[in-house]
Amino acid sequence: MRDFLRRLGIEDVNPGATCGEWFSSGEELASYCPTDGGLIAKVRQATEEDYDRVVAKSAEVFKTWRNVPAPARGEIVRQLGLKMRDHKKDLGRLVAYEMGKVISEGEGEIQEAIDIADFAVGLSRQLYGLTMHSERPGHRMYEQWHPLGIIGIVTAFNFPAAVWAWNSMIAAVCGDTMIWKPSSKVPLTAIAMQKLANDVFADNGYEGVMNLVIGRGSSVGERMLHDRNIPLISATGSCRMGRRIGEVVSQRLGRTLLELGGNNAIVVAEDADLRLALPAVVFGAVGTAGQRCTSTRRLFIEKSIFGSLTEKLVTAYKSIRIGDPLEEETHMGPLIDDGAVQEMMDAIEAAKKEGGEVLCGGGKVDRPGSFVEPTIIKAHPDMKIVRDETFAPILYVFEVDDVEQAIEMQNSVDQGLSSAIFTTNVMSAETFLSARGSDCGIANVNIGTSGAEIGGAFGGEKDTGGGREAGSDSWKTYMRRQTCTINWSKDLPLAQGVKFDI
Ligand code: NAD
Repeated sequence: MRDFLRRLGIEDVNPGATCGEWFSSGEELASYCPTDGGLIAKVRQATEEDYDRVVAKSAEVFKTWRNVPAPARGEIVRQLGLKMRDHKKDLGRLVAYEMGKVISEGEGEIQEAIDIADFAVGLSRQLYGLTMHSERPGHRMYEQWHPLGIIGIVTAFNFPAAVWAWNSMIAAVCGDTMIWKPSSKVPLTAIAMQKLANDVFADNGYEGVMNLVIGRGSSVGERMLHDRNIPLISATGSCRMGRRIGEVVSQRLGRTLLELGGNNAIVVAEDADLRLALPAVVFGAVGTAGQRCTSTRRLFIEKSIFGSLTEKLVTAYKSIRIGDPLEEETHMGPLIDDGAVQEMMDAIEAAKKEGGEVLCGGGKVDRPGSFVEPTIIKAHPDMKIVRDETFAPILYVFEVDDVEQAIEMQNSVDQGLSSAIFTTNVMSAETFLSARGSDCGIANVNIGTSGAEIGGAFGGEKDTGGGREAGSDSWKTYMRRQTCTINWSKDLPLAQGVKFDI
């Protein structure tokens, strides 16, 4: 069973920092399996001195890496994509084992890392700048994009491989070096991914482009935020963490790319095709045990179908197979740890106190590990708890008069990540997508809130942080833009007709 750990190079105690070579001198951190609570392996964490050593090497390597032509950088990322393909099954298994998502989602996560590597390879020949017509005769104006420097990448526990890949594959072709600080809840997946990167970059003579530091948010994390050597911090996690990062990094006028919590909703109109809506809602709310930033947390149903749809949902929930995420037939694995189970139980209690009615689930599952029952709660708009993101499989269902009211209620929370409508009416669909429709970064029609493709820019508005990662033109965040004007005439005219004769 543990053969995959050996094949991925995971040892009983692993060093937690690397910039080519591996080292670390801090306290040990244990990684436990959420399915049975057993110890998987340990990591010796990085200290602040270890972090400084990684920064020094990243800065040195940047001086070389920034001069490598972007398509040549892309070639190395292509090799890394192939390496991840070779190890996809083992990596997917490790993600499922350490984080608790089911095996097909674990492998899907590695596929996402491969997809973004492929995307980055193509991008390495498309880091386009614009040319402009100058108002001055004999002048040419254009903009170009240069590498930014060392990128700090902070990731959440729930996507222990893919979010690093979204950032690092793009940052690498942009000519940046980087330092990854993963979640302390899933350090082994980070070590396994990083080992592949180390091998590929060493084979090409560029050790120290992608680097790793595993340590506490309060020590190495904070040091990174305050570090003026790091021009961009790309951070994925809770809104609380994002506020702290935004505050510290903006104090030193650094850049942030924030991918924070969501409170995602699906609207089901009375004309919806329920054969599509039902599985989309169940996957959105129950998939990954409700631990995706894009998990469906609120459901707005038009009143004429409220009773029949909630009944179907309750029936569907009863067929959810909860269990070991490594078994193919399991739909839902455990939560990440017992703290997350307690937070879910507290939220259910709070919902009940505010008048919420539990339609199904609501408890823990009586077996070892951090297992819970997926839960549906009939809610009303005055409930405060529905405004929070509880990172667990709780779905709040609301009865609404019409699509307009559903959109208004959907937009009434602080977060703005993902949203969806199920309808066969083009007017309802277009209203949802219009400027007065969904206020989220992601708005879907007839597909659910979770499971985004890497080709689009991913991220959300309001308290979700405003960042955009992965596809489209997200790469621009990882580079600095330079506007260049070249005078090839024999005169020196000033812009806006200003005269300054000497
Ligand atoms: P978290 O906020 O507890 O931790 C996220 C990361 O931030 C961890 O690596 C943690 O060590 C680090 N961190 C915390 N304080 C820090 C500090 N002061 N300095 C530097 N680093 C610090 O989040 P989590 O529980 O791991 O993940 C769940 C949250 O992440 C949810 O809110 C979820 O919605 C969000 N998330 C968002 C997206 C997105 O793309 N919008 C994707 C995945 C997860």
